[in-house]
Amino acid sequence: MMAADGGATVLENKDAPKMPEKKKTKFDVVIIGAGPSGYTAGIYCSRAGYDTLILSGILPGGQLVNTTEVENYPGFENGIMGPDLMIEMRKQTQRMGTTIIDDEVVNVDFRHKPFKVLTASEEYEGRAVIIATGANPRKLGLEGEQTFGGKGVSYCATCDGPFFRNQELVVVGGGDSAIEEATFLTKFASTVHLVHRRDELRASKIMQERALNNNKIKFHWDSEITDIKGDQKMRQAVIKNLKTGEEKILDAGGLFVAIGHEPNTKLFTNQIDLDEDGYIVLKNKTHTNIEGVFAAGDVHDRTYRQAITAAGFGCMAAIDVDKYLTENS
Ligand code: NAP
Repeated sequence: MMAADGGATVLENKDAPKMPEKKKTKFDVVIIGAGPSGYTAGIYCSRAGYDTLILSGILPGGQLVNTTEVENYPGFENGIMGPDLMIEMRKQTQRMGTTIIDDEVVNVDFRHKPFKVLTASEEYEGRAVIIATGANPRKLGLEGEQTFGGKGVSYCATCDGPFFRNQELVVVGGGDSAIEEATFLTKFASTVHLVHRRDELRASKIMQERALNNNKIKFHWDSEITDIKGDQKMRQAVIKNLKTGEEKILDAGGLFVAIGHEPNTKLFTNQIDLDEDGYIVLKNKTHTNIEGVFAAGDVHDRTYRQAITAAGFGCMAAIDVDKYLTENS
């Protein structure tokens, strides 16, 4: 049969086996991680016209997926639930054209360009990579942390402190974070019990002094939390003196665990410069030691650790990627 334009018409064989669609694996930008920094980087990279992939891991959304109400992310007059905020960010990122794959990265190869990012079943390539894998708060390892997570147990005083007005609160830890959080929480709490496993603080002198002189903070030295009790929400923390073995019950509506964070950087050991605690060391702005590989959010930021600052770092990394790809195309 001839087509009207004289060319041969190819008849479609409906019974022919369909060829499987080849999965796209080459991108301009590959972003590892889908918290506020990863999604924001995705939005900016896609809007700038780059073919962008986010590999989100198995549980996308980052730390906000484990929180309840978020009152301090601008744009939501009445606050928003953490998981809902992350769903909105994901939908916005997809609307901008970013490909999102909920798969876990198991290896990376940044030795050659394009960079390779591997999951168990695929090998993806990116002309630039943004690492936005975040950090996880260190846990005490108690069952009650799980049971009362978001119901009294928190890992962020800035995020959750205002929910605990006029209540007794417990803070665990002896570093700068614990002291800073305990001091901050005195704005809201009737009493803050600081529980530390040793008899001296690790925190800087000036912060120690501020806390030691704050009569709302009560120190429990050489002590650890052994149990968290409650019903619908947390009501009590059981503490044990490690020297005497004596146990005490503190009636408290909230327990803030501030015993450090662990950045998710195991994947990058030996390829990206990390500091002694595993945080990515940035050479300049969002640039890592490898030209073309950038980092954003809690994976390098041990100071601010807020959703809004992580999102800001994601934006910065995307702008730096744009400059890099423009100069290296
Ligand atoms: P950190 O300095 O590592 O302190 C962690 C604290 O938690 C230590 O006191 C440690 O006790 C205790 N701890 C660790 N594991 C524990 C466990 N399983 N059970 C009970 N207690 C445990 O962590 P950070 O306070 O988050 O600070 C991290 C870094 O950020 C530091 O370099 C800090 O200076 C910096 N930072 C600075 C500021 C500021 O300048 N405004 C604010 C926050 C953080 P031991 O002391 O016995 O080891």
